[in-house]
Amino acid sequence: MEALTYGRGFRIHRLTEGTKVECLAIGQRDRVVSHSTTNITFGSMRAVEEKFCMECGESVKGRTDKKFCSDACRNIYHYRSNNAPINYVRNVVNALKRNRRILMELNDGPEGTKKVHRDKLIQKGYSFMYHTNIYRTMKGNTYVFCFEHGYLEISENWYALVRRDEYLERAGDS
Ligand SMILES: [Zn+2]
Repeated sequence: MEALTYGRGFRIHRLTEGTKVECLAIGQRDRVVSHSTTNITFGSMRAVEEKFCMECGESVKGRTDKKFCSDACRNIYHYRSNNAPINYVRNVVNALKRNRRILMELNDGPEGTKKVHRDKLIQKGYSFMYHTNIYRTMKGNTYVFCFEHGYLEISENWYALVRRDEYLERAGDS
């Protein structure tokens, strides 16, 4: 069904059973800024809007500009958003540590002999997005490291695992 305009900034998105409609508040560049359901009484053409808590999703009673069902939910929501940078850093550090552990566990042969396929790394939870440093040789080979463990892509999707124990002596700023 074609979207209908309802009120200012609202558009009826989808008709569900009978008189219940879902509404999306459309902001700039057609982004959905809020979501609610509305019961329309066709007889009187009166619309009663139902809002949902941005934290827990429960129905919000009272003023139409209320975004949370309770003070507790508002506090949790703001606590979470204030901590986004902390959570992000922690998640990246955890990903780096996980990568290091995976490389360490797989690199169980004599130095420089162990080869693994990309699928094996991914299956173990390796994240190719994160590494601590890159080392390019004169020949143009690129080693990617997570701390003292790393790899060199030797052919498509195949990696030779390496370890640089001398990294352990470094403070990290050299
Ligand atoms: Zn809530």
